[in-house]
Amino acid sequence: MTQETGGFAALGLNPNIVAAVIATGYEEPSAIQQQSIPIILEGHDMIGQAQTGTGKTAAFALPILNRIDPSKREPQALILAPTRELALQVATAFETYAKQMPGVTVVAVYGGAPMGPQLKAIRNGAQIVVATPGRLCDHLRRDEKVLATVNHLVLDEADEMLKLGFMDDLEVIFKAMPESRQTVLFSATLPQSIRAIAERHLKDPKHVKIQSKTQTVTAIEQAHLLVHADQKTSAVLRLLEVEEFDALIAFVRTKQATLDLASALEAKGYKAAALNGDIAQNQRERVIESLKDGRLDIVVATDVAARGLDVPRITHVFNVDMPYDPESYVHRIGRTGRAGREGRALLLVTPRERRMLQVIERVTGQKVAEVRLPNAQAVLDARIKKLTNSLAPLVADAEATHGDLLDRLTADIGCTPRALAAALLRKATNGQALTLDAVEREQPLVPTSSAPRERTAGSGDRPERGDRERRAPMPLGEGRARCRTALGARDGIAAKNLLGAILNEGGLAREAIGRIQVRDSFSLVELPEEGLEKLLAKLKDTRVAGKQLKLRRYRED
Ligand code: AMP
Repeated sequence: MTQETGGFAALGLNPNIVAAVIATGYEEPSAIQQQSIPIILEGHDMIGQAQTGTGKTAAFALPILNRIDPSKREPQALILAPTRELALQVATAFETYAKQMPGVTVVAVYGGAPMGPQLKAIRNGAQIVVATPGRLCDHLRRDEKVLATVNHLVLDEADEMLKLGFMDDLEVIFKAMPESRQTVLFSATLPQSIRAIAERHLKDPKHVKIQSKTQTVTAIEQAHLLVHADQKTSAVLRLLEVEEFDALIAFVRTKQATLDLASALEAKGYKAAALNGDIAQNQRERVIESLKDGRLDIVVATDVAARGLDVPRITHVFNVDMPYDPESYVHRIGRTGRAGREGRALLLVTPRERRMLQVIERVTGQKVAEVRLPNAQAVLDARIKKLTNSLAPLVADAEATHGDLLDRLTADIGCTPRALAAALLRKATNGQALTLDAVEREQPLVPTSSAPRERTAGSGDRPERGDRERRAPMPLGEGRARCRTALGARDGIAAKNLLGAILNEGGLAREAIGRIQVRDSFSLVELPEEGLEKLLAKLKDTRVAGKQLKLRRYRED
């Protein structure tokens, strides 16, 4: 076991779980994990204020796994999440961390999928149930005892659950569980509504908040780019083409990511190496020496491995994976701008991580401006500039040394000097794309967004706080259909209840749902025309606030 992974063992987790975490490539617990794991292991109730990207999932998943009894084949832990995407992610995380715990099974319970198999998995003895509140309530209506054995409850993204109108469902779920259970609540924000839940349903909870003190960073030019997680490597490759760097350090989260990115860079001809907690001390020193003297230009590192690294040549820091907290961000970018030099720090932000970016901005007291990914033209210009810079110094005396040879070759081949120079260029550039077309073909465009709330199709994004309120009402546009339900304000329905239910049960992306109008005795919802019949069939049994939704196409004429 490496010294760093001792970090997880020292928190009191059992060896099977620590082993799975090591296999996942985590080197040390993040701040929220350091603080939460011991509290949850001891059985306390807890309120954790943390957002996506801090490592909050493992902060509850690891100790919960530690506390269940794999030999008992009944639900023991329930994790509630606002959307099915998050429920699936959390379930996958549990499966990963439980890899070395034979007999532990996890079931994800969410809308838009048949209920039968979910119920069967619960009855077959899944110990961990990860669910969205709406669908779980449907199960409770069929079998009110389904949660009777659950003694650990986690509310993940509690503020989002309330925003999506799941308050009443939560109350139903609380009642269906033993009062003696342990309850853990995670939320990015703690508005009054969340505090009220905590007061009613948590017992003497411990609070965990990652305290962030303001730190100023000067002499380092900071910027961020929006990219999708699966396009980070191509984004990095593109950035490297246009950024004029001397030496660069790229931060990622896992050992595997250091190896993957370093080999992708090497394959493109960069002098790159990985630095992670598995690398022996003498090898680590060799890597740092090489970076210092220019045998290496890029080091791909985890936070742990880069600790104390002081190389004045570093002009750039790429935060390829988001740091866990603003302090690590400040620490990371401090690897550049050494000894009063200027440095540049770029942060890649996936759509889900935008909130973390805001936290970083608040804590550092600085705006991290958005830049766009260089387009093919910028890449081409950068390549030609490099070529020009490498050839220009040779021109002065090349004619004296190689002029006669040129004459002879043009005569022998029977071509013009221009044709020969072109052939030599082709040889020297070794197949590199040097026309706009060729560059475009070579690098598929990575979509980015400059509008702060713009979404790109297929991002699998979860709804973010405040999103819906800020969006202007959408007119019934092409491709949309208006649907009606007989549930309205007098049934205790608010737009967010409808939104939450339709999102989860229908398995829709947030942007697929248009305007929702709630009237006293009915409500109207704008849904995509394409696949509408299928969607309505899916929503057939959906209930909102305990009543059947019965959504139908609505024709105004
Ligand atoms: P979360 O905040 O739970 O959404 O986690 C964000 C990401 O961080 C996930 O991709 C996790 O796999 C990763 N992660 C969580 N804890 C650690 C850790 N201690 N070391 C490295 N990566 C981690």
